[in-house]
Amino acid sequence: MWDEEKSSLWMLPGYMDGITRAGGLPIILPLTDDAEEIIQLATICDGFLLTGGHDVSPGIYHEEPLPVCGSICEARDRMESILLRKVLEIDKPVLGICRGIQFLNAVLGGSLYQDLPYQHPSDVIHHQAPPYSVPAHTVELIQETPLAKLLQKESLAVNSYHHQGIKELAPALRAMARAEDGLIEAVWLPEVRFVWAVQWHPEFYPAGDWASDLIFKAFVCAAE
Ligand code: MN
Repeated sequence: MWDEEKSSLWMLPGYMDGITRAGGLPIILPLTDDAEEIIQLATICDGFLLTGGHDVSPGIYHEEPLPVCGSICEARDRMESILLRKVLEIDKPVLGICRGIQFLNAVLGGSLYQDLPYQHPSDVIHHQAPPYSVPAHTVELIQETPLAKLLQKESLAVNSYHHQGIKELAPALRAMARAEDGLIEAVWLPEVRFVWAVQWHPEFYPAGDWASDLIFKAFVCAAE
């Protein structure tokens, strides 16, 4: 995350802890728009976690920002666009979380709801109040997808802290979970090593949350 006010890069420890617990070694990448540096980073690292954060620039999915769109970080969008395209090209594992699922969908040609209450109103609580370590709604796990196979369940209670979401799914992506209002909450990209993304926040759960641990583990194992 880039904090404009403090001119600083920061990271919620839950992302790092999730990777560490799963046996990986996490590092934060620098915010740069030097394509050569980014391609070097793509080559050096074994897997890439696209974390939560600012809204995705609507320009990426060819829309004008609506007044309900939140703040964006163009520098991060530029960097992650170059990085993600390179990572997909060289087929390295990717796990997207929250903004990560939205960014992946937008870069692969899908589109986003810029604000769920405004463009996709429903009774499902997608923007819960703290604490974020408790479930806010359930998702149906679509059977025969890798996530359902991993978790061995038909549904999962998840936390929810997002105001944007997938509108049109990118042609290459497949849905792995849906909320009761139909919103896609998990996706994967077939025919590659491992490209998964979830709309909820495994990093907010404490150590020992079985579903979050399994998701981080699947990602780190794919990156080994
Ligand atoms: Mn949700």
